Amino acid sequence: MGQYFQEIISNLKTYLEYLKGMGITSLPSSGIKFEGLPSPQILSLEEIRKELGDCKRCKLHRTRRTIVFGEGNPKTNLMFIGEGPGYDEDVQGRPFVGKAGQLLTRIIQSINLQREEVYIANIIKCRPPQNRNPEPDEIQSCHPFLMKQIMAIQPKIICALGTFSAQTLLKTDTKISALRGKFYDLEGIKVIPTYHPAFLLRNPERKKEVWEDMKKIAEWLINNKIKEME
Ligand code: SF4
Repeated sequence: MGQYFQEIISNLKTYLEYLKGMGITSLPSSGIKFEGLPSPQILSLEEIRKELGDCKRCKLHRTRRTIVFGEGNPKTNLMFIGEGPGYDEDVQGRPFVGKAGQLLTRIIQSINLQREEVYIANIIKCRPPQNRNPEPDEIQSCHPFLMKQIMAIQPKIICALGTFSAQTLLKTDTKISALRGKFYDLEGIKVIPTYHPAFLLRNPERKKEVWEDMKKIAEWLINNKIKEME
């Protein structure tokens, strides 16, 4: 029984952290308030960038050159979320501008969209040293800002690129190979994971699966009469 309650408390804690990340600090149905948290509100992307400031909330600030906030159409229906900045992104301060970025641009174009029509961001906004994987404390520190960006943009679909993006957004440790190609729900937003373009550069034989996933996105947008980006 003790283990059962521990599991419930753990699940509740995870859910409350998620709500906090979304900027939700009270539960209307129960009237519960989370003392000390900022009031719930949807900020503009400019306001979120201002709040992020010269962020030192995790240790990645020590080695980064630039904070890579994200870029694109702030009113898009389709958002792409990758893992984190690499060398080129760190230098330029823009997401997905290296070789993997060029491939992402072609992937976006494969469904007749231009890069400028979608919004592109990452799970973490600062480059990890030697492009190592982001660590849990770094993801946790950065995640609330990504969730605020999602709230500001309110896309219909998020394409999660790669393991860290999919697992963080969906709060799961399931492998990307099992997650990809299916639609999941994130507070009413469809999330479809697929392989990261950097993985495709190393494993070009997997491009076909990404093409299939992109077709699902295009079909969903057409079936829901979302024919063009706002
Ligand atoms: S990764 Fe995110 S939380 Fe960490 S320093 Fe950069 S902006 Fe701040």
